[in-house]
Order: sequence, then structure tokens, then C-alpha cells
Amino acid sequence: MKGKIAACLILSLGIMILACGGEGVELTASLEHIQNQEDKLAPVILTDDLGELPDQEVEVLKLIVKAARYMDDAFLVQVNGDNPDLLRSLEAANDDHIRPYLEYFKIMFGPWDRLDDDRPFIGTKIKPAGANYYPPDLTREDFRSWIQNHPDDRETFESEFTMIRRRMNNLVAIPYSDYFKAQLKPAAALLKEAAALTSDRSLATFLNSRADAFLSDDYFQSDMDWMDLAGDIEVVIGPYEVYEDGLMGYKAAFESFVCVVDHEASRQQADITGMQKELENQLPVPDHYKNYDRGTDSPIKVVNLVFSAGDTKAGIQTTAFNLPNDERVREAKGSKKVMLKNVMRAKFDQCWIPIVNTVLAPATLKRVSFDGYFYHVLLHEVSHGLGPGTITLNGEKTTVGKALKELYSIIEEAKADVVGMYMTQYLIDRGTLPRSLENELYASNLGGMFRSIRFGIDEAHGAGVAIQLNYYMDQGACHVTPDGKFEVNDRKYRKAVKSLAEKLLLIEAHGDYEAAADLIAEYREIRPEVRAALDRLSHVPIDIRPVYPVEDEI
Ligand code: ZN
Repeated sequence: MKGKIAACLILSLGIMILACGGEGVELTASLEHIQNQEDKLAPVILTDDLGELPDQEVEVLKLIVKAARYMDDAFLVQVNGDNPDLLRSLEAANDDHIRPYLEYFKIMFGPWDRLDDDRPFIGTKIKPAGANYYPPDLTREDFRSWIQNHPDDRETFESEFTMIRRRMNNLVAIPYSDYFKAQLKPAAALLKEAAALTSDRSLATFLNSRADAFLSDDYFQSDMDWMDLAGDIEVVIGPYEVYEDGLMGYKAAFESFVCVVDHEASRQQADITGMQKELENQLPVPDHYKNYDRGTDSPIKVVNLVFSAGDTKAGIQTTAFNLPNDERVREAKGSKKVMLKNVMRAKFDQCWIPIVNTVLAPATLKRVSFDGYFYHVLLHEVSHGLGPGTITLNGEKTTVGKALKELYSIIEEAKADVVGMYMTQYLIDRGTLPRSLENELYASNLGGMFRSIRFGIDEAHGAGVAIQLNYYMDQGACHVTPDGKFEVNDRKYRKAVKSLAEKLLLIEAHGDYEAAADLIAEYREIRPEVRAALDRLSHVPIDIRPVYPVEDEI
């Protein structure tokens, strides 16, 4: 009976239950609330002029998009074990009242509202910190004590590519290749098919090694091959970010970006990337904390997104990313920054301009610009590749990520933002970026923070921005005018950027979990004056909701 809706009941509390083979799907949030939430995400058609690609490569792209759809399915299970059943029940309902819930479920990849601190809108189950990566009742202490008592399990348990499950009274680590074989086997076959068809040899190499990795859980070679992509198609597919694992911060979520490269814009950005060592040298920390071991092969690509899947598609959309996360690859080859130009432009138009119009004081407002926004995003991504990566802690080699555990994402995102500001100023002073940008940089950064913080401060990016905004306010870098608008002080802002960059870099260099926890405890909050400004933004879409025409063609 699974998936068959036997009855729809509206309870006196306004909670609707879809009885489904004895199990109920409870619609916890009101229909009006769901529609309001969906209105926060402006639908935008994302595409690229595929006419520039040879027909054969368009077919390659479509095969990759087909494979990418399996990342949707795998991520859905990573978020919540009940998700496939919930999805089937919602789809089977075929009811106008249910459709908005179904739509929102698909946007959120589950019954928890990513725009509202993961509050359930279907059912009442609270989202476990570790999503579906761990048994729902497993605590951090349970995990750590298991490792302490079973040191041989450390590697598989801390692996990015295993699910932790209970078997009788034991904990076991199940490799992704096994747990997700229903998704990874067909995805691998499609990637092999695309590899055989493409005339882009660098792409064929990556697609083949990534397909192999889906079956072996060894992603190293395919991450190396991904660094060498040189053609028109840029593709990310597999398990990458660990943000969804709020318990330990170890487990990687499945996602995909399928993009077409903008070669001319990419060449423009390559200049800045070529300066990585020089930028590392400029970091405001003592020289012995600087990390010159990373490779210098760190291209920046500017692309247009034609399809995304899984983790990255859930809730808020990404404008740029820096991969791979494997420190071994980063030290051997550096990392690659990919900027999603059509996504950036869509967000700037739909979400950014209406916000700064509302929150900034007139003198600050007239200094914001698209360049101020664009270059900071660019340098944010460059900055993920700067600073400590592999560190020595108590005589043992480890990574900043492992040392800072679940706090790492917050600290690393804040670091990338703040060091990104610091480096933009440096490039202006050095004459690489135009002097006129200085007048726009701080005003644009301040305005942009209100957009990020609207996502909530539980998620790593929002939390990182709350730390910056509150720190900058305390340093006098910005202040609130009598009518509740925000005014920037460039001189103090510049000083505050330097001191906060230093704090964040030292936390990473020392792998100092306690200092990270203290900083987050002190600054992760929405203060009343910020709340008042955010309250005036209710009319502005929080983000975009991508619509991909390529999906209709496969
Ligand atoms: Zn980032």
C-alpha cells in the first residue's frame, strides 16, 4: 500500500494527515505558510547558450545531467532515511493542496525547512544533528568513546564516505559504494557512457576515474583528474561538502554542478589566481603559520550553470565553490575555484539590490556596486585556498577540519569572507584591481552581509557572517543611524578586517577548538538593531529557485 493515499483528514488543529497504508504523512505547517516560504525563493531560469557547444558535446552534457539526477536521490537518503517513502506519498497524493508541500519538500530535500532553522513542515520529527549519516540517537560522546575503545575503527568511522549504523549492540561503518549502490552504479554507467562519447580528453579521464570512485570509495585520483579539466564542460559530481553533518562534520554529501565554461571571463580571473603565493605571504599572521606547501595549480573558472543536484540544490543556492576538499590533492595541485556567473547575476538582480536599498544609509548605499560584490565573492573563493590546511597538533599531523570538528565549517567560511576582504584591499593597493573599487568595497560588503544572515545563523555561512557583522559593529566599522539604517566607516572597517582575519587564521593554525567555540559563542547572534533591519526585508526574496530547461530535454 506504500505510496497510496487512502484518506485525507484535516484535524481541528489544522494539521493534515495523509493516511498512507497505515502510516501517516502529517502536514504540520499550514498551506499559507508553505506558500509564503516558497515565495521567498524567486524562480529563475538558469541556462547557457548550448548552441556554442558541438552537438556531440551537448549529448555528453545530457548524459552527465542524467547521472547527476542520481545525486538528488542519494542526497535525499543522506538527509533522512524516511525521505523516499515521504516523497512517494506526496507524489501519489495528486492533490492541489498537497502540491505546494511536495514542491517545498523537493526544494528542501526533506521535511525540514532549511529557511527556518530546520523546523519540520511535514511530521513532527526533529532533524538529527547528524542527519541520516549516523543512528539518530547517537551523540558526539558515543561516537568518540567508540573510537577510543575501538581505535582500529577510526579511519573508516571518520571517513567522509561511510554511513554509521548500529548492528545489534555494535556500531559499523558502511561504505557509500555499498550503502548507495542503487544510485552510484547507474550513475557510474552514465559517466562511462559520456566519457566514451566526448572528444574532450580531460573530461573523459575525469568521468572514467570518477565512475570508478563511485564503486571503490577512493576519490583521490578522480579529484586529481578534476583539477585538469580543460574543455568546455565543467562538472562536479559525487560526495563533497560536510555541512549536512552537524554531528561530527565528517560525512560528505552527494551533489552535482553541470556547467559550461566562459573561457574569456576565466582567463581574466587567472591573473589573480597566479598570485597565490604572494597572497599567502600577505596573510596578517607570523610567517611560520603561512602555508606554502599547497600547489600553485589553482585555476579559476567562470562558468554558467545548466544543472545542479543534491546538497548544493537544497535550500540556498551556491554562487561559487572551491574544490576538492581532500587536503592531499590541495597540497599536490592546489584547488580550483569555480564561479557560477549566471547564478551570481540572478541573485544580484533578484535578492541583493532590493536589500541594500532597504538597509543601507544613503551615503553608503550610493557606493555599492556589482564589482564590489563580484570581487569579494572571487576573493572569498581564493581565500579558501590560503592559510593553514594540514597542521601538527600534539605532535600528530592532522587537518584544520578534523581539529575544529563541527565548528570548522563556520570558522572556515568566516575566514574565507574576511581574508577575502583583506586580499581585495591588497589587490587594490597593489594596482591589480582598480582604485575606484576601494570606494565600493566596504559598503558592498556591509550590504551583502544582510543577505547572507537572512539564511539564518545555524548554517555555516550565516553563522560566519553573524560573527563578522557583530565584530565589525563592536569595532565601529559600521553604525546604525537614527532611522535604523547602516552606515559604513571605511577606515575602521579596514582595520577590523585585519584583526578579525588574524583571529580566524590563528584559530586554524593552532587547531584551537576552544577558541573557535568561544568566538562563535560571543558573536553568533542576531542583535536587535540587525533584527529590526531584517524585519524590513520581508518583501525581498531570500534566494532564487533554479529552473533548468535542460531537464526537459533528457
Ligand atoms: Zn566558502
